[in-house]
Amino acid sequence: MSDNNVNKDKKNNLKFATRLLHFGSEIDKATGASSVPIYQASTFHHEDIHNPPLHDYSRSGNPTRQALEDYIALLEGGERGFAYASGMAAISSTFLMLSSGDHVIVTEDVYGGTYRLLTLILNRLNIESTFVDMTDLEQVKAALQPNTKAVYMETPSNPTLKITDVAAVCEWAKSHELLTILDNTFMTPYYQRPIEQGVDIVLHSATKFLGGHSDVLAGLAVARTAEIGKQLKMLQNGLGTVLAPQESWLLMRGMKTLEARMAHSEISAAKLAAWLDARSDITAVFYPGLANHPGREIHESQSSGYGAVVSFDVGSGERAKRVLNKVTLPLVAVSLGAVESILSYPALMSHAAMPAEVRAARGITDGLLRFSVGLESIEDLIVDLEQALAEE
Ligand SMILES: *Cc1c(COP(=O)(O)O)cnc(C)c1O
Repeated sequence: MSDNNVNKDKKNNLKFATRLLHFGSEIDKATGASSVPIYQASTFHHEDIHNPPLHDYSRSGNPTRQALEDYIALLEGGERGFAYASGMAAISSTFLMLSSGDHVIVTEDVYGGTYRLLTLILNRLNIESTFVDMTDLEQVKAALQPNTKAVYMETPSNPTLKITDVAAVCEWAKSHELLTILDNTFMTPYYQRPIEQGVDIVLHSATKFLGGHSDVLAGLAVARTAEIGKQLKMLQNGLGTVLAPQESWLLMRGMKTLEARMAHSEISAAKLAAWLDARSDITAVFYPGLANHPGREIHESQSSGYGAVVSFDVGSGERAKRVLNKVTLPLVAVSLGAVESILSYPALMSHAAMPAEVRAARGITDGLLRFSVGLESIEDLIVDLEQALAEE
């Protein structure tokens, strides 16, 4: 066993919070520096032409990016990790595991950008997709075609936080030799490690909770097996969708505080959800931690927490826009998962790429707002939202 493997085994026994800080590359081996050096280099010198350096060109491999890739693989419990220029770069590179003529079954309330990729880009390459309500395993099964090659999950889904039974979908998918892919952006490996449920590839928009500061755009993928890892490596290198060294470093810096941020935000999110749920002027509240959330039991069987995103319906598009204009603390913006709270309007923001009738059918109503709870005092956030909701 190499030193590296001994190290990896030792790290695997540590608790999550400890692994976030002690992931293997936290100390620079050459100098003892307290963070991974930023190897701002595109290429690497061959000292001896018969003995090439470990990394020879930064698209194919860069030590800073490699440290991040090993870090996310460790956190998700997978064989190999990959870092990309954005979440969509990770998702699109992964979908190119498929070939022309292949079919994929996709959760119907998939992230808007993934919907766009499937319906405007991959369809032109003759990669076919069927969108189903994945809370219902029968619908997943019914979508099977002779050319089906993969199942794509997102749980809790965006923005209505619907829950997919990951182990059940994986078990069925395995029996048909389908590749299983899961977008774990909302939960992060702190709350949910889908590889443990049988998922083959875990994806992240690391722009969100993993980065955590609204200052980095990045995507990550983790392969369950070495064989899948080999295919993802070929695609990442062949497509050139890699993350740059500076961004890799920033992402690692953010990830070190993942548990502290998530745990704090979750306590606040639960308070916000309960407060909203008790109001008679809010037509619906979506949060997996609410007792009345459909799928709560399944969620609890596969996740250790409920996350920091609460969606709620204020009744109408007009009211939603008034609230967005009146709040003073949250960022009114696309995105989520940051130290500051972010209030989004899915109908006009993240899900604008979805046709209005499709949106309506999926419960993304004109009155729906999505609150990503940050690290501010929850008392202040609630007072602010209360004044924004007040009718003058
Ligand atoms: C933001 C997001 C993406 C896309 O990631 P980018 O980093 O914006 O490219 C994918 N999936 C989910 C669930 C997201 O929230």
